[in-house]
Amino acid sequence: MAPLDLASLNPEQRSAVVHRGGPLLVLAGAGSGKTRVIVHRIASLVEEGIPPWSILAVTFTNKAAGELRERVGRLLGGTGPSATPDRSAASDVRCSTFHSFGASLLRREAEAVGLTRDFTIYDEDDQLSLAKRLLREAGREADSAAARELLSAIDRIKNGAGDGAEVEDVLELCGRFERALRAANAVDFGDLLALPVRLFESRPDVLDRWRRRFRHVLVDEFQDTNVVQYRLLRLLCPTGADLCVVGDDDQSIYRWRGADVRHILGFEHDFANAQVVKLTQNYRSDGNVLAAAQAVIAKNPHRHDKTLWTERPSGAPLRLLSAQDERDEADRIAAELAELHSEGTVWSEMAVFYRINAQSRVLEEALRIARVPYVIVRGRSFYERAEIKDAVAYLRLMANPRSDVDLLRAIGAPPRGIGETTLERLSRHASAAGLCLFDALAEGELSRVEGLNAGSRGRLARFRDLVVELRAAAAESAGAAAEAAVVTSGLLERWASSSEPDAAERGENLRELVGAAREADERWASQPREAGEDLPEGGPLVRFLEEIALLGDADGEAGAERVSLMTLHAAKGLEFDAVFIAGMEEGIFPHSRALAFDPSREEAGGRGTESEEMAEERRLCYVGFTRARRRLFVACARMRALFGDLRFNPPSRFLGEIPAELFDALPSFESSPVRPYPGAPSANGITVDYSYDQSWRSPERSFPRRPPRPSPAPARPIGAMGLTVRHAVFGVGKVVSADGEGPDAKLTIRFPGVGEKRIVARFVTPI
Ligand code: ATP
Ligand code: MG
Repeated sequence: MAPLDLASLNPEQRSAVVHRGGPLLVLAGAGSGKTRVIVHRIASLVEEGIPPWSILAVTFTNKAAGELRERVGRLLGGTGPSATPDRSAASDVRCSTFHSFGASLLRREAEAVGLTRDFTIYDEDDQLSLAKRLLREAGREADSAAARELLSAIDRIKNGAGDGAEVEDVLELCGRFERALRAANAVDFGDLLALPVRLFESRPDVLDRWRRRFRHVLVDEFQDTNVVQYRLLRLLCPTGADLCVVGDDDQSIYRWRGADVRHILGFEHDFANAQVVKLTQNYRSDGNVLAAAQAVIAKNPHRHDKTLWTERPSGAPLRLLSAQDERDEADRIAAELAELHSEGTVWSEMAVFYRINAQSRVLEEALRIARVPYVIVRGRSFYERAEIKDAVAYLRLMANPRSDVDLLRAIGAPPRGIGETTLERLSRHASAAGLCLFDALAEGELSRVEGLNAGSRGRLARFRDLVVELRAAAAESAGAAAEAAVVTSGLLERWASSSEPDAAERGENLRELVGAAREADERWASQPREAGEDLPEGGPLVRFLEEIALLGDADGEAGAERVSLMTLHAAKGLEFDAVFIAGMEEGIFPHSRALAFDPSREEAGGRGTESEEMAEERRLCYVGFTRARRRLFVACARMRALFGDLRFNPPSRFLGEIPAELFDALPSFESSPVRPYPGAPSANGITVDYSYDQSWRSPERSFPRRPPRPSPAPARPIGAMGLTVRHAVFGVGKVVSADGEGPDAKLTIRFPGVGEKRIVARFVTPI
């Protein structure tokens, strides 16, 4: 084994890598090598002879966990394709997310928490249907809104964010929800962390076993741990344990999910004798990019002052793409991407970030037209398609027949002529007899269900036989299980014989699922599960299901030779040569939610004190900017159609905070669509309206209360076309053409039953 090369680290990084004997906090800005410290530290522990299976590294996404393992492997065993002993040592290191760690812990300790090892992990949809059922049974309103409300209360309680004010009957419903989950041998997402904590707190013997198993714990992106994760960590790492956490309080962007930046700031207090290392050199970004990022984050109140420096050159200036509307913005981004590519930047080294998912559609269209290859990093979406969910319901039923939610989904897909009433009768019988639905389908039970005719009984029996047959196929491999779930179930046939327009695509998707399962089998054959980690009893199928369930938002395949499109939240930890940020407008980024809470609006034109929501948006901006190595493009549109709404957003305040000299050219306001708005002029002349009021979007208002100035820019086809609008006299109509822009534009609108009318935009409301 080549000795670990510590010369590639600066002195502070090295001190963090070699520190032994007690807790360690690396608190440092973006791109300063925190993740690099984690990788080297793991390698150095292994090199010292520490058993790799006693090392636990926790990161934020599965993708990051995989990368960590990969990088440790490279450090230890060279880069050859063959699995040298050192490389396999790296694969013995447990690299996972908090949730996947929790899942594997629960599989191991299943009995102690009232589960079997084949338990199912319910996603939001599953939880929603369960919540609806419980509300219905409790005689309460059982619509989606009520169910969501119940789920968020449950989540708050589980994640420790409950404020103690949950009312009695909510607590009672939470209890029922828990019991129903356990009866189905299922857990929800919050349970993956909450149950291990509860187990550790109630069973010192179990806790002791896990403490002795993982003697070396490392956590990346520590600033985004929530209360439960922190509790789990504290339980696992007693005083004096070898715990190393790295993070950046300026990159804390998951407050809305319960993350609490105070953990990083209170670390020294909670972990006695913690060593603190600060890193100040940024190795990732050119000077201009770093300066822009620091200018934005510097405006946040209450931050640890951390100044980063770089030895890298200033590099290319930033470019502001100020567009007419969202289509223009997308076209210009596509053109810049194509140009960078022609100059030699590979596609996979470029990324486009946006604040809200809905922005991606227009970007995708533009990239397709410009023939720019791209991939949307949004891992879960494939598994959220209806036909895939149907197939997954079969797979889960095969692994865990007690999961009623899955049985109810599978029994109706493809349709088998089993109606609501039949299912209701079956359910009633099952709950009276204390059985899960599958057990209620057993020969002896079925005959006892009241009110079933022979036809229904026969159909139910045939479905039961199908599940029994499928379960036999499940044990072999994930591929065989998936094939059975789509073929034997009749799902594939259903779409093959359908004339619905997207039937072919759905069939393709089902085949892709089988392909994904086979791939997983192959992957596991060449890379066995981490040492000491038990294979779930259900074998490959349960393992495949766990992978699917724990796929995070940011776990999509990385772009091999493709530009990556993702939300800003999914971008953390990553780096690219060129980064584009679309939609830098007040109300988009910063998000309108932050504006709504922003006390600075009270002081017209002034900055006031910004809300915590705004501070988080600013951190998100810092995360976005610091992903770029060399080129940073920021884009905004003067007018934007989004969610069927036409918006005239002023440029983002974050744009106004970037020093003018960092840009290559700023648009001249006489000819540019980025117009000065009333408000405080900024350092660079992009004047931002801090008092921008969006309340006109509420349904009871008509067009903007604060109309933007009419634009001197030449008219072009704009986002208003095709919009549905309401007029006080003529009712609802569709915009067929637009002359001019903004509230003064003359729109030609077709009103059904009335005909075409020419109306000034300010007299209609987009709906
Ligand atoms: P983030 O806050 O964005 O997660 P980070 O602090 O984790 O960033 P890394 O991703 O570890 O930073 O490092 C940023 C880049 O700088 C990487 O490309 C890394 O390889 C490089 N780098 C870090 N330290 C050094 C060093 N001492 N010498 C050379 N390159 C380095
Ligand atoms: Mg990092």
